[in-house]
Amino acid sequence: MIIGIDLGTTNSLVAVWRDGKASIIPNALGKNLTPSCVGIDDDGTILIGEAAHARLQTHPHLTAAVFKRYMGSERKTQLGKQVFRPEELSSMVLRALKEDAESYLGETVTEAIITVPAYFSDAQRKATRVAGQLAGLKVERLLNEPTAAALAYGIQDAQRETKFLVFDLGGGTFDVSILELFDGVMEVRASAGDNFLGGEDFVTAIVDGFLQKSGLEKAIGSNVLTGSQRQRLRDEGERAKRALSEAPQVKMLMHYDGTEYQWELTEDVLAQLCEPLMQRLRTPVERALRDATIKASELESVVLAGGATRMPLVRKLASRMFGRFPLIHLDPDEAIALGAAVQAGLKMRDAALSEIVMTDVAPYSLGINISRQMGPNNYESGHYLPIIDRNSAVPVSRVERITTINDYQNELMVMIYQGEARRVADNIFLGKLLFPIAPKKSGEISADVRFTYDISGVLECEITVLPTQEKHKLLITENAGVMSPDEIEKRLAELADLKIHPRDRIENRTLVAKADRLYEQLLGNDREHLAQYVAHFIAVLEQQDAQATRRAREALEQAMNALDRGSFL
Ligand code: AMP
Repeated sequence: MIIGIDLGTTNSLVAVWRDGKASIIPNALGKNLTPSCVGIDDDGTILIGEAAHARLQTHPHLTAAVFKRYMGSERKTQLGKQVFRPEELSSMVLRALKEDAESYLGETVTEAIITVPAYFSDAQRKATRVAGQLAGLKVERLLNEPTAAALAYGIQDAQRETKFLVFDLGGGTFDVSILELFDGVMEVRASAGDNFLGGEDFVTAIVDGFLQKSGLEKAIGSNVLTGSQRQRLRDEGERAKRALSEAPQVKMLMHYDGTEYQWELTEDVLAQLCEPLMQRLRTPVERALRDATIKASELESVVLAGGATRMPLVRKLASRMFGRFPLIHLDPDEAIALGAAVQAGLKMRDAALSEIVMTDVAPYSLGINISRQMGPNNYESGHYLPIIDRNSAVPVSRVERITTINDYQNELMVMIYQGEARRVADNIFLGKLLFPIAPKKSGEISADVRFTYDISGVLECEITVLPTQEKHKLLITENAGVMSPDEIEKRLAELADLKIHPRDRIENRTLVAKADRLYEQLLGNDREHLAQYVAHFIAVLEQQDAQATRRAREALEQAMNALDRGSFL
């Protein structure tokens, strides 16, 4: 069985193709969204998903989140005594989703289609594949997130040529992609985005507005809020943001130092607060349109993905920018995972290639270091000559001719870079080719530099020296920040030794984590009240009586709901 996985920055989802349609698989808690969070419990076991997320605030040093941002880098996260790479943390989320799918489907899952942002670099893609491997999943291929959203909307079934835009605003990232479907080929024409813009920034804007307008900021003065107080404020901001997606206005309320602070948030006020964010949403859209040389009016449809596109403000912006209503009939949180399942379904029927061919784009420009003539006999080195432009459809092969600039130079050195900057020093160095050449007068020896970039993100650089036709080749597959096969083998064995909190008990563990979080936020009698409920619940858990556990769990949930109503800082 092949599953489709949306491995997101804030949340991840798993979906399956069954009975002719894609559907989301709920996790052990019955929820569709699994927070992309990993933590270590006090006894050293690994917690994944909501249980870890609930401890983010109470145990920040034992919990990791937003690690997707660091995929493909060497950044390490220390959790307790253990140190993890971003792909290892991702692998634990994948593993939890795999287990959820297996228990839901009643069969073993061995393979997955995992989605990645269209702009993910080679290193980031390879790290995602490694994450799959570490989770015991064969990752046949990675699917670009916008392509997945398009598949979920069935755009591949259109009988004619169509151009469309995917507008994906998640919790912490914004991605825009322009896709084109023609002759059964779906091509990403351009992708752009902002890695640090998402629903969370809207919460920050709301919290800032509340602090100022309710007078709370003055009351706090030079006091410093604790982590848990700040979290409480953010929770209230998040609640208000979501409520405003359903109602024209919401009341925000906080108690601090015996006083009640309130503020009424309306859509207009939110629009004012978020104007800078709106402007930042426009920039990548404009860049993607420019890169794809497409006018907004040529787009046939606009697909919304990512939970933050539920905000009416964002939907209005999209409608205004594109002069049409975006497609919204799927849950924007689920579109990408559903699309991955559609792809899995196509693959299981072995129809993937005949029914729809998908091409990807090179996420960055790839080029070499050259010297530019600045005047007679005056050359300046360190300039960038892009050979494959960013957003070229892959596989792609391009060639540029270079010529010697020094008399009797007896070797040629070609340095290979990835990036968009004019000077190579500002781009990422990928590798170099250095070989001897016959010493001749400058300009007498030329070489053709051919770059071939394939669908799995491997860059082949081939240099043909003229006129001898002598060839030199370099394959760039290994990136810094990507684990080697030996390292993967070794870590697989080590990770297998980690104790993962059992899936069937995660519901109870999650509730205790949430209760701990609430406990930090409460004061006085409420605290004591909650502590008693938690103590009772833990005592019942130890008796291992399923019915008694269920009753105690419900009682604790009720108590927590009642206590959570007041919003005290
Ligand atoms: P994702 O990364 O796609 O899971 O997106 C999560 C983001 O969507 C978070 O910032 C949420 O606050 C936001 N979100 C989810 N539901 C809503 C809603 N009803 N209204 C506004 N934002 C929402």
